[in-house]
Amino acid sequence: MEKVAVVTGANKGIGYGIVKGLCQKFDGIIYLTARDEKRGQDALKSIKDLNVCKHPENLRFHKLDILDQSSIQALHNDLKAQHGGLDILVNNAAIAFKNSATESFSHQAEVTLQTNYFALVTLCHILFPLLRPHARVVNLSSSAGHLSNMAEGELKRKLLDESLTEEQLSKIMTDFVNLAKEGKHTEVGWPNSAYSVSKIGVTKLSFIQHATLSKDANRPDIIVNPVHPGYVDTDMTSHKGPLTIDEGAHSSLVAALVPQDAKEPRGQFIWFDGNIVS
Ligand code: NDP
Repeated sequence: MEKVAVVTGANKGIGYGIVKGLCQKFDGIIYLTARDEKRGQDALKSIKDLNVCKHPENLRFHKLDILDQSSIQALHNDLKAQHGGLDILVNNAAIAFKNSATESFSHQAEVTLQTNYFALVTLCHILFPLLRPHARVVNLSSSAGHLSNMAEGELKRKLLDESLTEEQLSKIMTDFVNLAKEGKHTEVGWPNSAYSVSKIGVTKLSFIQHATLSKDANRPDIIVNPVHPGYVDTDMTSHKGPLTIDEGAHSSLVAALVPQDAKEPRGQFIWFDGNIVS
């Protein structure tokens, strides 16, 4: 059975770099996904034109808007019908409001958490049943998603608790949005950045997902790792990051291609240089 990889939000930026890297290193089918058909098809063509793919015929496009449950379901159905499963899932799609954004913090909190955290949760609920043994899941977090961004206290202790469930984590994320509406989020220890909170959620979610999937006796050796890609030259950073998209893709490629016999990384936070951080 041919292996299959899916990368979300891959029409530009780091996601594009990840697809390009997979084309050079991975022998299976690779789905470059994007919410906009034209942007996705253009990106696909641009990667093919680079002549770097080991198997150009294996690179395909699928439309995917992570905020649209029916779009995720359509991808699920096509993967199931055509390949019977999934071996690499890279959750890259995300948004970040600019520092200069004029929308209220309350609005930014709601929209950011909806895209970066809750849509990712929904996507995983729909696509995880397709994961085959030895599958690799990569969740794009950030240095902003490291707990060092939080004040010490009860909330940070909760997030460090290894028994925290996904439901409890999602409740904490919902509570953040509600606190943001009242302007009280920093009082409980959150940083004053919805993006940072969303990525703290993604980091913790990755550890919970890894622990849960590790208990699945029918599907051994599934690994979920969060990654920090580094500060990368993309639209998200207004091209201020010093790293190229290929350099930004490095940690994701390390996580996507963890060999079967590797002791680590397994449910660990991978930094842009490929090292594991606590
Ligand atoms: P970009 O803004 O350059 O690209 C984001 C991608 O996500 C685009 O393809 C965008 O599509 C897509 N996207 C956004 N919303 C959706 C959606 N609802 N459905 C499907 N696709 C969507 O970001 P980067 O490449 O810089 O970031 C990639 C990942 O890396 C993100 O998770 C980001 O948080 C993380 N990261 C980035 C850092 C950096 O320095 N760049 C640092 C740390 C983390 P469209 O073109 O249609 O908008």
